[in-house]
Amino acid sequence: MQLKIALAGNPNAGKTTLFNQLTGARQHVGNYPGITVDQKEGCIIRGEQKITITDLPGTYSMTAYSVEELVARDYLVNERPDVVIDIVDSSNLERNLYLTCQFLELGVPLVIALNMIDVAKDRGIEIKVDQLSRLLNVPVIPIIARSGFGQDDLIEAAILTASQAGPWISREISYGKDLDTTLDTLVTEITENSFMTDTYPPRYTAIKYLENDEQILEKGQENNADLAGSLEQTVASVADHTLKTLDVYPEAVIADQRYGYIKSIIRQGVETHRFDTDRLYTSDKMDKVLTNRLIGPIIMLLILFGLYHLTFNLSELPVAQLESFFGWLGGIVDKTLPDGLIKSMITSGVIDGVGGILGFVPLIMFMFFGIAVLEDSGYLARVAFMMDRVFRIFGLHGSSVMPFIVSGGIAGGCAVPGVMATRTLRSPKERMATLLTVPFMNCGAKLPVLALLIGAFFHENKALYMFLFTMLAWVVALLTAKLLRSTVLRGDPTPFIMELPPYRYPTIRGLLIHTWERTYQYIKKAGTVILGISILLWALMTFPGLDNEKVKNFDQQRQQAITSFSSEVMEEINLKAKPLSEEAGTLSEKLSTINNAEAEATLRYSIAGRIGGAMESVTRFAGFDWRTNIALLGGFAAKEVIVSTLGTAYSMGEVDVGESDSLGQKLKNDSHWNRVVAVAALVFIMFYAPCFITVVCIAKESSWNWAFFSIGFNTFFAFLSAVAIYQIGMFFQLA
Ligand code: GDP
Ligand code: MG
Repeated sequence: MQLKIALAGNPNAGKTTLFNQLTGARQHVGNYPGITVDQKEGCIIRGEQKITITDLPGTYSMTAYSVEELVARDYLVNERPDVVIDIVDSSNLERNLYLTCQFLELGVPLVIALNMIDVAKDRGIEIKVDQLSRLLNVPVIPIIARSGFGQDDLIEAAILTASQAGPWISREISYGKDLDTTLDTLVTEITENSFMTDTYPPRYTAIKYLENDEQILEKGQENNADLAGSLEQTVASVADHTLKTLDVYPEAVIADQRYGYIKSIIRQGVETHRFDTDRLYTSDKMDKVLTNRLIGPIIMLLILFGLYHLTFNLSELPVAQLESFFGWLGGIVDKTLPDGLIKSMITSGVIDGVGGILGFVPLIMFMFFGIAVLEDSGYLARVAFMMDRVFRIFGLHGSSVMPFIVSGGIAGGCAVPGVMATRTLRSPKERMATLLTVPFMNCGAKLPVLALLIGAFFHENKALYMFLFTMLAWVVALLTAKLLRSTVLRGDPTPFIMELPPYRYPTIRGLLIHTWERTYQYIKKAGTVILGISILLWALMTFPGLDNEKVKNFDQQRQQAITSFSSEVMEEINLKAKPLSEEAGTLSEKLSTINNAEAEATLRYSIAGRIGGAMESVTRFAGFDWRTNIALLGGFAAKEVIVSTLGTAYSMGEVDVGESDSLGQKLKNDSHWNRVVAVAALVFIMFYAPCFITVVCIAKESSWNWAFFSIGFNTFFAFLSAVAIYQIGMFFQLA
């Protein structure tokens, strides 16, 4: 028989690390909440036993307040795992046991994995495992999830516990005289009527009624409205009583008593500190500097700048090498394939399109590696902590910071998980404001666009410009948030308390997994979605093709050139004035000019060319020509497409693919482009409509109205900014 084990625990307790160790999977290990919202599954085999392991989202509690908590709770009661492994951060025992209490009350067969004993030891905390196990009456296995220590003992204990498990029975924790009496009354009624007893143990239901748990109350109403009404009555009268005598609702009494229960256990010699309690731990000492009100932000900016500097410098050579590799590949294809549509599709559509994006893989890799170091060391949590102060000024919430960073706050994230991560925000207005502004960040898809244009037009100061464009993204996002929060999304701020996880040495393995995971996503997207769109856009830029009349015209021009050439040559030969080779050069030059003119005419006449051309009447105010317009339209499908479309468009106009310049070089040589246009284009690209997938995601998380709002508002704003930049820039002749 298959055994079902669920991993549950507080955020950052190490669930995903343990899950990856056990199953060999590579789920994302993160230092912040909101990442594992859905559960993940994996399979292992121990001896004869097949085991399914589920990684549940991290929660501090099991109330119905947030999506994570509901997902975790619903999984437990609906899927009924054979045993739950509760992962407890031993360096934070007291807080972690709060959730443990709730598992005990739910009555699930439980094994405690006492994780991070290495960290606890470093901090001089010693935990008496046997004592804890005896007092809680639950097996406790010390482990180090990161190294795999204790893992086999843990699985063994879990299998044993599962095999001995009976029906789920609530652990009885006392909640004081008043509530205990009420609980007894409720439990009696619930038991007599078998009220939802298939799903929850009676005492658990009773506690949830006292806690005023929306989900359970709703289910109760559906199940047996009469009985539910009478239970609610009982609860209302005791709530009345606690309000009068203690000035709090029963749920507060319950929380207090749970903490009391935990304290009493810990005080019975479970936890001892080897060091003075007021000793500053290394982490705290580091935070004195790194999150200092004055120095902290400066260090943060320096780190960011350093990251860009390293990324651009280290990746310069490999990027150039990859670029010339794709140039070489194009040359080979050009020589081997016969002229025609297939060749044009492969060279212009695939190699010059997708190749342009793949060329930036080294840069992406270095960037992701840097971010992984910041994340795994715990620094990113400090960034969130410091940004919280700033965010509050702009009407956002401390929990908004992580969605921003996930979306590419440092560069190279993605707005889709960013939008999903806003689920951790409980206030709908703060959540909407976050949701609508996270797409302004520089996601991984905008990165090749930034790298391309900055590389081509601001080569001397790449890191600086990358840094400035990142700052700009934040400024615009925050100002927009402020605008939204003082108009359509007006409302009071909600409180936020952030806990800083201790600093940790990142492991090489973790860093490599992180870097590879994200780089692979980038490559995969380029090779699938972007490839498809690239070919589609190639087709739009190729068809319908010139009509016969025009083609004939170009043929005639060619013919003429050849005829005049041959008559000239005959003369030259007669006079023996010039070497023949020189003349031949002029002919091929002439022919290539005519060919280029034909290619450009075809491109302009194509469906995409006509659309891009029609848009010029508006976009010329921002300095965008028809080629750029095609690319920007394509960018709505995915922002990388801007690079691939420019690659295709500029490749179709030329004949000699083999010896061509890089795309950046071509843009630089094109009279339509200059520094001012580049900045206007970059600003437009950073802020215009989110890509299609993000829009769908925003719609799913809020409504289609908001999704359309974000398309319209962002594009409008981006266009106005681009026009302003272009007009002012050209006026002062900054190009
Ligand atoms: P989750 O939120 O419960 O899924 O926690 P994660 O698995 O994402 O772990 C949070 C952080 O703790 C990561 O940086 C892990 O590398 C680190 N971590 C997990 N287990 C251990 C451990 O046993 N020892 C140490 N030193 N770090 C650990
Ligand atoms: Mg996790």
